[in-house]
Amino acid sequence: MTSLGSRFMRKMKGAMLSWMPGMLTCMEFEIFLIDYMEGTLPAGQRRVFEFHIKICRECREYLAAYRYTIELAGRAYDDGSAPLPDEVPEDLVKAILAARNC
Ligand SMILES: [Zn+2]
Repeated sequence: MTSLGSRFMRKMKGAMLSWMPGMLTCMEFEIFLIDYMEGTLPAGQRRVFEFHIKICRECREYLAAYRYTIELAGRAYDDGSAPLPDEVPEDLVKAILAARNC
């Protein structure tokens, strides 16, 4: 679950990581997330992305929530009456819907 505190931590961490060469900020993590999930992220960027997952708990949780949402969306297609649980962050659902419309 992406709480307000978690979003704040990711912003702060992103600001710190932007000063370190070769590091991915939390904002860049979100940008690369879809390519990573689709397996289209180039090898170099994928290594940096996976390193960020190791060092950033907030982005690990974000990725887990993302995967969970994708799984639920897949299930919703199987069963149109399946309810969406309350714990899925609304901004994440919006981001996924926006990405699908590209
Ligand atoms: Zn992060």
